[in-house]
Amino acid sequence: MKILVGLKRVVDYNVRIQVKPDGSGVVTDGVKMSINPFDEIALEEALRLREAGKASEVVVVSIGSSDAQQQLRTGLAMGADRAILVESDQPMQPLTAARVFLELANREQPGLIILGKQAIDDDCNQTGQMLAALWQRPQATFASKLELDGDSAQVTREIDAGLETIAVDLPAVVTTDLRLNEPRFVKLPDIMKAKRKPLDVVPFADMNIEVATPITTTHYDSPPQRQRGVMVEDAAALVAMLKDKGLLS
Ligand code: AMP
Repeated sequence: MKILVGLKRVVDYNVRIQVKPDGSGVVTDGVKMSINPFDEIALEEALRLREAGKASEVVVVSIGSSDAQQQLRTGLAMGADRAILVESDQPMQPLTAARVFLELANREQPGLIILGKQAIDDDCNQTGQMLAALWQRPQATFASKLELDGDSAQVTREIDAGLETIAVDLPAVVTTDLRLNEPRFVKLPDIMKAKRKPLDVVPFADMNIEVATPITTTHYDSPPQRQRGVMVEDAAALVAMLKDKGLLS
């Protein structure tokens, strides 16, 4: 069984995001870019399934500019067998990304597609769900445990009330939550080996995909500056201050 994994290139989660002075976007020049953290978890899970003999091939996919080859090479160094870059310089909305994954699902016939629950740049949390609908296959979102059993998968999902375990027929779409696993570190020899692994670049135009009606982002703003906190001497002073502000009667 083949597993497709989405790897989106995003600003690294440790970077303090700066909004451009004209509000047209966030600063990405000279900023560290990484694999979306939920996608690293997706890849780790796919690799563990392959290592357990439940999958035969792991293919990592990124949709974006040629710079995303960097993240795909990291995915190959982690252990993926091959990579596909669907190259486009246009901003990629979830519906368009889902259509790309659908086209690749038709070409590659995977038994499982594992995506992150959300990309941390736009926090959309839509691509996996849209892909499952377009592909007309089951979805198991926010997975914190995944077990394959023949033609089906048992997935434990993180929901508001706790955990829920569902069974889905394969092929299916699974999206990852933080607690699913801890991704492995990449070792130097693996980085060298990854250079020789296949990475296909497919122009977006070759996908014959209708681009979703663009949602135009009109403005970006930084969150308001938080006010400084106040240290109080003891609980009595805290109560007095809260009463003073009308927050306690
Ligand atoms: P989103 O719906 O944008 O929050 O993205 C959810 C997941 O879909 C991500 O964690 C990725 O696994 C996948 N995905 C979305 N956009 C892309 C992209 N441009 N390239 C690769 N994977 C993507």
